[in-house]
Formats: sequence, structure tokens, C-alpha cells
Amino acid sequence: MSKNPRPAAEPAASSSNFIRSHIEADLASGKYAARTWGGRPGPARAHAGAPADPAKIRTRFPPEPNGYLHLGHAKSICLNFGLALGYGGACHLRFDDTNPEKEEQEYVDSIRDAVQWLGFEWGSNGYFASDYFGFMYEAAEYLITSGNAYVDEQSAEQMRASRGTLTEPGKPGPWRERPAAESLARLREMREGRYADGAMVLRAKIDMASPNMNLRDPAIYRIRKATHHRTGDAWCIYPMYTFAHPIEDALENITHSICTLEFEDQRPFYDWLLGKLADGGLLARPLPQQIEFARLNLTNVVLSKRRLIQLVEEQHVSGWDDPRMPTLAGARRRGYTPEGFRLFAERIGVSKADSWIDYSVLEDCMREHLNEVAERRVAVLDPLKLIIENYPEGQQEDCFAPNHPQKPELGQRAMPLTRELWIEREDFTETPPKGYFRLFPGNKVRLRYGYVVECTGFSKDQQGRITAVHCNYLPDTKSGTPGAESIKVKGNIHWVSAVRAHAAEVRLYDRLFKAPHPGAGGRDFLLDLNPESARSVTAQLEPALAGAAAGTRFQFERHGYFVTDLRDSAPGRPVLNRAVTLRDSRGR
Ligand code: ATP
Ligand code: MG
Repeated sequence: MSKNPRPAAEPAASSSNFIRSHIEADLASGKYAARTWGGRPGPARAHAGAPADPAKIRTRFPPEPNGYLHLGHAKSICLNFGLALGYGGACHLRFDDTNPEKEEQEYVDSIRDAVQWLGFEWGSNGYFASDYFGFMYEAAEYLITSGNAYVDEQSAEQMRASRGTLTEPGKPGPWRERPAAESLARLREMREGRYADGAMVLRAKIDMASPNMNLRDPAIYRIRKATHHRTGDAWCIYPMYTFAHPIEDALENITHSICTLEFEDQRPFYDWLLGKLADGGLLARPLPQQIEFARLNLTNVVLSKRRLIQLVEEQHVSGWDDPRMPTLAGARRRGYTPEGFRLFAERIGVSKADSWIDYSVLEDCMREHLNEVAERRVAVLDPLKLIIENYPEGQQEDCFAPNHPQKPELGQRAMPLTRELWIEREDFTETPPKGYFRLFPGNKVRLRYGYVVECTGFSKDQQGRITAVHCNYLPDTKSGTPGAESIKVKGNIHWVSAVRAHAAEVRLYDRLFKAPHPGAGGRDFLLDLNPESARSVTAQLEPALAGAAAGTRFQFERHGYFVTDLRDSAPGRPVLNRAVTLRDSRGR
């Protein structure tokens, strides 16, 4: 795993938002100071004597290990880990693996990798929801004996029918008032595997007439005869997510449970459940509190696991880490940087209102960071021969190019100049339009870091395609020598030595979807795929690029930011991916 600079604790002055205000108010009132925030999860009774832990707040990032992390998750990770860093707290990485069916080790590994790549560490606070299945089951029995839950034997259809609608209250079903002892016996039989999937469920007993549908006796345990990736066949009943999640937070002493807006209507259940368990002495107060923020919606990509899985499974992309994928694994291969993501998260902020962020905002953040760190190199993406007629065959000399124009400390490198060079095909034209300052017969341009040359002619093949451009160089005009300024030219073009350059595959990626809102209005989102999102060219690279290690980022002058592909590069044979162009050519 590559090393990343760790983000510094956020300065207190970093832009304020409603979540920070909330946390600051809690810190000021000492709300969470009253108890010892033990570092290990456990029920209330385990906290007596738990080691003091200096964390002032606790947040968590709770992915379900059923897919790779995407750009939306990056917002949540930067937020949760960033708050913990900023307020002297801890952020837990918790795998929400309560659903036995879709979870896999591959996803667990990729999630850990992505969080670390973003620059965050959970230290000893890495957990699995499935570690708490025992406690959750105990909590379920407690809810039954305290009159707060019952086993319902209605069919799913019957339950749906009696649940009511947004405008009509629900109706109590026939099992609602059954004795606790009977529900308890059923739950134990469910656990023993005596019933088929769906035969009955355990429901919280709250209020069938509540205006909040989530409080109309939500299901909290269901039968699922499936093998779990960690607990194997130990269980055949599994807690529902809405029941499991608040318990996980409480057991881990989370103070601020930050989630996306769609859970707002679940908050009353979150509080109801933890309140009941605290009343029963199973959990200690103060309890965690849920705070919602608007999820990231980003144009020109999809951020739904279901759709991302579809893109991979139907092979619209080469895999989860295809550089066009809006996953963190894809972004990393694409050449995006953790620092760029953290800048993006800071810049878009958090709010309570859903909105769309233009993809160009993310690209600007990447440019900003890449501009800082990427060394400059030269690559000719659409090569055309330039022959310097008056330069001796077999002669070679070095021209020196700075590795970073604003960072002299990064030094310079030698670029060999020879009689034959590669230049960009678009840097020559037979008939120049107005304002064209590059090569055309009779015109002079500077070969960047080298000499001024004057175009003397060109050659064509039988199809009329230009095969070479001819020129003479002006020996007194080498960059960095006193004669360099003797002739003023308007054009400045990049080049590489034809005998010393390396041919390499360079992939010019564009946005995966051409529509800003793929699948808007119910249309098939696949119809909005951009057929030109991946174009590959054979480019000519300057010699210094031959040995570039995989994962190194560069700015190719005039072309944008590129990275040596992590997967397809071989020693001495780099494959390069374009992360982002130098500027946004689309306009906004
Ligand atoms: P699923 O449909 O599988 O639940 P999910 O995108 O909610 O998908 P989770 O693994 O449950 O995936 O998400 C982990 C965390 O990331 C959650 O806390 C969730 O709120 C947050 N998250 C997911 N998508 C976004 C998004 N677009 N913007 C911000 N946070 C997000
Ligand atoms: Mg989710």
C-alpha cells in the first residue's frame, strides 16, 4: 500500500457548518464528558472500569460491505474522520454486515484500502456489526419481556395491508397483544431454525397509528437461512438494519452518528430504541445522537451501488477500478489524489438541502492539487516527424527543462535534442487560419527549452496526409543562452527526440456519462453512457518517463495531468492515464 501524507487536524477556523456547531455546543455543555468513553465496544455493564479513552467525540463511517466505495462515500469519510481529527475525537470504521447475503471479503478489503488511501486511520477502532449479534439478540428478548416487541405471524402481504398509508393510520394485527411469553417462545424457535424464511418476524411495538410510518411497529428481526461471511451458520435470524445500526452506535460509544437525509424519518425510531434499552439498563446514557446531512449528488456519474454493480457485471467498464468508474479505486487509478478529495469535501461543505454538484468542481480540486505536486514532463500524443535539415545527423545535445516551474527545488532534467523530433500533428498546418502561431511554411517557432526553428516545407504521402515537416534551426537562439531573446516568436511548441523517445499507450479518459443526470426521468441510465469515454493513443514520451514507477503523477505540458497506470504498467513500459485536462474546456 502506498504511503500517503496524513491530513493534519483541521484548523478550528475551517469553515463552519451546522454539524460543527452542534458538536461545539455539545463540547461546551459537557454533554458527553460525564461518562468514561471506553475504547472497546460493549454493553453498559461492561463500561464499569473500562479504560479511560481521551476521545472527546466519536463518529463512525459504517459502510455495508456489498460494493466498492464511491465518490459519495468520500464525502462521508472526509466528514466523519475530519470531524474526529478536528475535535480530538476518534472515528470508527464499522462494517455494517447485518445482511448475510451480499457481503464479501473482497469488499471489506477494498473499503479498508480506500479509507487508508484517502489518508485516514481508524487505529484500533475497526469493527463489524456482526460482532454484536449476541447483544442484539439479547436486546430483542428484552424488548419482548418489557412489552415493547412481539412476534408477528402474518404474511408479508397482510402486514403491508394493515400498515396503512401516509394518509391513513395502520391497524393493529392479530398477534400484537399476544402474551410476552408466547412471543419469546416463538423468537427462540425462530432462532433454532424451526421456521422458514418469511414465516414470521419480530416487530417493535410502538404505534400503528403514528404519522411516521417508521414507527408503525417496524420489523426488527427476520428469518434468513443464509450463511454469513463472518458468522457462518451460527444464526438463521438477522437483525434489520434500522434496529442494528443504533445499537452498534451505542455499543461503540458513538457521540454523533452522522448519516444522510433519507434516514431523517428513522431518527424517532433510533431514539425510541436506544431509550428503551437504556431504561432497561442494557445501555448507558448519554446516548448517541443521529444527525443528517445531504448526500453528495454529482453530475455525469452514478453513485448508486446497484448501478455501479450493473456497470461492472455487464462489462460496460473493465472492473470496479476502471479509471472511469466513480469509485475510489477507479479514481486512484485515474490519477486523482486524496488531497484533492479532501479539498473537495471541504469546498462543497455539508448542508441539510439536497443539491447537485457539477463534476467540474471535483476536477478543479484535483487540478489544484496536481498542479502543486505533479512534475512536468513532455509527451507527444499525436506524433508527427519534424526534421531539422541543418542539424547534423547523429548529433545530440541536452536541453534542460524545469521539473516544476514554481518549484526550482525540484530541479531540472535533460531532454536530448536530435535532428529528428516528434511534434504534435496539430502544431503544423499547411494553410494557417488567422491567429495560428505554430508551424507553417515560412514561420518561426521556438522548440520549448531548445532553439527557434523556421519551417522550410513538408512531405505528404499519396493520400495527401502530411508525413513530415522540415525546418532549419537558428543556432544562436538556444533557450537559456544570451542569444535566446534575439529573435521573438509567438509560437512555442513541445517536442521529443525521435530516436530517444519511448512509444507508450496513453489513455485519454473522458466522463463516463455524457448526460449530467444519467437516467433522469426514468430512462435507462445505460443509454447515457459516453461512447467516447476511453480513447487510447500511442504517444511518444520523453526519455525521463521510461522509468516512471506505477502510480506516479505528471503534468504533460499542454495536455493535462497523467498517472502511470497501477495495473497495466510494467517496468520500463509505462501505460499512462489522463486524470484531468489542464483546464475545463467545456465551459460552465
Ligand atoms: P446502500 O444502497 O447499499 O445502502 P449506500 O450508498 O448507502 O448504499 P453504505 O455502505 O450504506 O452505502 O454507505 C456507507 C455510508 O456512506 C453511509 O453512512 C452513507 O450515509 C454514506 N453515503 C453513501 N452514499 C453517500 C453520498 N452520495 N453522499 C454522502 N454520503 C454517502
Ligand atoms: Mg446504506
